[in-house]
Amino acid sequence: MPKRPLLATAAALAAVSVLVLPATAASAPATGVAAVQEHLQELQAIAEANGGNRAAGQPGYRASLDYVKAQLDGAGFITTIQEFDALGGPTYNLLAETPGGDANSVVMFGAHLDSVSEGPGINDNGTGSAAILQAALDYAGSGATPTNKLRFAFWGAEEEGLVGSTHYVQTLPEAERSKIVAYLNFDMVGSPNAGYFTYDGDDSDGEGAGPGPEGSAQIEQLLNDSLGAAGVATEGTDFDGRSDYGPFIEVGIPAGGTFTGAEQSKTPEQAEKWGGQAGEAFDSCYHQACDTVENVDTQALDRNLQAIASAVETYAAQFPQP
Ligand SMILES: [Zn+2]
Repeated sequence: MPKRPLLATAAALAAVSVLVLPATAASAPATGVAAVQEHLQELQAIAEANGGNRAAGQPGYRASLDYVKAQLDGAGFITTIQEFDALGGPTYNLLAETPGGDANSVVMFGAHLDSVSEGPGINDNGTGSAAILQAALDYAGSGATPTNKLRFAFWGAEEEGLVGSTHYVQTLPEAERSKIVAYLNFDMVGSPNAGYFTYDGDDSDGEGAGPGPEGSAQIEQLLNDSLGAAGVATEGTDFDGRSDYGPFIEVGIPAGGTFTGAEQSKTPEQAEKWGGQAGEAFDSCYHQACDTVENVDTQALDRNLQAIASAVETYAAQFPQP
C-alpha cells in the first residue's frame, strides 16, 4: 500500500496548489484493475517466499488466505475460516459476507485461492480470487447497503478435485443451502491468449453438459450483456464440472461465471473475434511454473473485473433481476 504524503504544517498545506493535487491522488490506494494487479503481485510474492507455490497444504496457501482475509476484514466484511482435510492435512476455505442484506437471500461469488504445486498460480486462479476480492472491496467502498446478502468464497483445494467447495456445500445444512439464490464462479479470468466464455446456463450450444439449474440462463445473459457492452462477443462453455460451481449446480443452485480459457487451443475463428494467436493455448502456462504475473492479459482481466463488479451491483439489489 503506498504511503500518503506527509502534510506537516499549515504553511505546507497552504502552499499546496491545485496543480499538486493529482500527485496526491496518485498516491491513494489503487482501484479497479490496477488494484487487482497489486493483489496479484502480492500473491506472487507469497509464492516466492513459500517454495514457489500457493498449493493446498503448503504455507503459501495459508499466507494467501491471510492476505485476502485482512483486506476483507479491513473493509468491514464478516469473515469466517472453514477448516477441512485435503491431502491428509488441514486446509481452509475463506468466507466473507456483507453485514447488511437479507440473510434469507444470499448471492455468492466464488473463486479458488489455491494453486497447483508446480507454480504460483497467478492466472489460475490468482486472477479470479483477486477480481472477486476487488469487486467486494469496491462494493463495500461504495457505501451501498445490499438488499440480498453478498457472500464471497475463496475455496481451498480446488486443484485436488473441488475439495473445498464440495465440503462447503455438503456440510451446509439444507435450511442454509436453500437461502443461496445464486452462485457465480470465476476461475482463470486473465488468460494471456484470452477467450471470453460464460458458463452455458441455457445450453444454447445444445451439446455437452446441458443447461444449469433454473436461473442460470439469466446469469449467463447478464454476464454476456456486460461483456457485450465492452464490445466483446462471448461463447458459452459447458458446466463440465471442472470448477467450483459443480457442487452448487448439483444441489440445484443457479450458477454462472466467466472464464478466459485454459490449455485448449484458440481456433482461427476465435482469434478473428477476440484477437490473440490461433492454434495456441488460451493459457500456455496452465498449471506450470511460468503461471506468474507475466502470464496475465490485463485487458481481459479488466473486462472480467467490470463484468463481475456489474454482477455484484445488480445482484446485491435483486436476483433474479426484473
Ligand atoms: Zn483453476
